[in-house]
Amino acid sequence: MPQTFVNDENGYLGWVQAHPNGYVVNIDNPQVTPQYPMVHAASHKSMSGPARTNYTTGRYFKVCSERLEELEDWAQSKYGRALTRCRQCM
Ligand SMILES: [Zn+2]
Repeated sequence: MPQTFVNDENGYLGWVQAHPNGYVVNIDNPQVTPQYPMVHAASHKSMSGPARTNYTTGRYFKVCSERLEELEDWAQSKYGRALTRCRQCM
């Protein structure tokens, strides 16, 4: 099951560390960025670096899974659309 992290920076960063081969979906709420939800490899540096502290707060939250197809299913059922793949890491 995909795991959702909202206002949980430590939980999110812990998940990324524990699942280096997993996937992270970045979502803004409300949906104002047309290419979101966007999926990244958990290893994408800008998805977990110390430079930011708003991974799961404010406008953003994350949904994580080790299996890409689980996240695709999640996006289809929740948003009725496919995930955009990050062009840097996917
Ligand atoms: Zn990426």
